[in-house]
Amino acid sequence: MHALLEQITTLVGAANVLTGQDVSARSADWMSAAPCRAAAIIRPASTDELSKVMRACHAARQPVVTHGGVTGLVHGAAAKPDELVISMERMNRIEAIDTVGSTLTVQAGTPLQSVQEAAEDAGLQFPLDLGARGSCTIGGNISTNAGGIRVIRYGMTRQLVLGLEAVMADGRVVSSMNHMLKNNAGFDLKQLFIGSEGTLGIVTRAVLRLHPQTPDVQTALVACPDFDALTGLLSHMNQALGGNLSAFEAMWHNHYHLLTEESGRHTAPLPTDSPFYAIVESLGIDADSHAAQFSQALESAFERELICDAVLAHSSQQRQGLWAIREDIEGLLQLLAPFFVFDVSLPISAMQDYVTEVEQAVAQRWPEGRVITFGHLGDGNLHFSITVGSDDDASRQAVEQCVYRPLSALGGSVSAEHGIGLEKRRYLDLSRTADELALMRQLKQALDPHNLLNRGKVLDPASF
Ligand SMILES: Cc1cc2nc3c(=O)[nH]c(=O)nc-3n(C[C@H](O)[C@H](O)[C@H](O)COP(=O)(O)OP(=O)(O)OC[C@H]3O[C@@H](n4cnc5c(N)ncnc54)[C@H](O)[C@@H]3O)c2cc1C
Repeated sequence: MHALLEQITTLVGAANVLTGQDVSARSADWMSAAPCRAAAIIRPASTDELSKVMRACHAARQPVVTHGGVTGLVHGAAAKPDELVISMERMNRIEAIDTVGSTLTVQAGTPLQSVQEAAEDAGLQFPLDLGARGSCTIGGNISTNAGGIRVIRYGMTRQLVLGLEAVMADGRVVSSMNHMLKNNAGFDLKQLFIGSEGTLGIVTRAVLRLHPQTPDVQTALVACPDFDALTGLLSHMNQALGGNLSAFEAMWHNHYHLLTEESGRHTAPLPTDSPFYAIVESLGIDADSHAAQFSQALESAFERELICDAVLAHSSQQRQGLWAIREDIEGLLQLLAPFFVFDVSLPISAMQDYVTEVEQAVAQRWPEGRVITFGHLGDGNLHFSITVGSDDDASRQAVEQCVYRPLSALGGSVSAEHGIGLEKRRYLDLSRTADELALMRQLKQALDPHNLLNRGKVLDPASF
């Protein structure tokens, strides 16, 4: 290791090879904030530098773990004491914006919020958005195929990436920096790196697809009398808003009540006695006509008894206040710790029965346990925060059984958007067939035969 670090120091400079306390002062896990345990953190400034670092690591058979903003929620950035971390923090420039082609070319370590702001300054929009926007990086978003709060309208990160560049395990640079909407010349290689959580290559640059701005935002918090009304409201708003619906975020009573009346963390904008709440958001262009369209859609939802109460945001401060209830993950951490978080997807029609099944399974084993539920309902994506009074391994596995076991029969997924990382590896076969898993292992072997990139993440190394 010493000789390798000396070699890497000549490539990136001493200031960019962090060791000792400079490593442990950083975290490799957002949830636990546990100190990073890697042997060193390497901070390359360019694709070329990273390529040379990986050539050296490849020759030494040295495993590495890539770090973006370290906001991932499945321990994908965890590093062992004999591993090196590759931090993308110095590759943080927006290289170009093409307002005619509606593209933005960016280095992978750039925070998502900087990309959003640069697109905005150019009169366009990069619509990927999530609570960690200030800290997560575009490379991390690509590697986890992040979803977020506008998937219903713009798709996941995959739909917003036109091209990318990646450094392979042996240091080769694969540049697939396509700028066009159409390019069917052979395999679409960028897809190998989107959502593969840094196991097949290190994303260094990307060409992102921008969209026209939608300056008018209409946001409402609504209360629904039952689950059928909630799903009926989703279909109704989709129709009535003619493609403008951008978010449909459901909160079960337990989530809304906990973060408002019970804890006092947020003032409740609506009474807390309804079984379901939803934040409904629409993005439009003309303020007057868009506001009228949104109000009419809500009014007709009232008439059809899909909603029993609603509050509209009249300023961006009020809008943020509504979203703060939905996005208060730190609040959940404080109020429920120790707790486990889950990110599953399943057909919307099966959701309420599934939630009841999970609640009953948890209550049967831990009468004092709590299951707090919210999610991107329009995307079929549920998040559970489950506390059973302990976070030891046995409790974790028992809670995981309650959540994951019913999913296979429903055609659901153990990971809707957070990925597999280390956390869900043992459950991957509940959502993927044996043939799919075999092909994943074949790809890993072909691209990273010495298993140097994010070793042990997503796929169990013992299985190939
Ligand atoms: C408050 C909060 C809200 C969140 N909301 C959402 C949400 O709504 N939707 C959602 O999908 N996720 C959400 N997340 C999870 C997280 O923000 C995303 O997974 C994000 O995309 C991770 O980006 P990052 O830069 O922090 O990646 P990291 O955490 O640094 O890394 C995540 C994984 O990607 C790999 N990786 C990172 N950069 C690269 C690269 N350049 N090349 C190759 N591999 C790389 C890492 O090795 C790791 O396996 C949320 C997290 C928090 C803390």
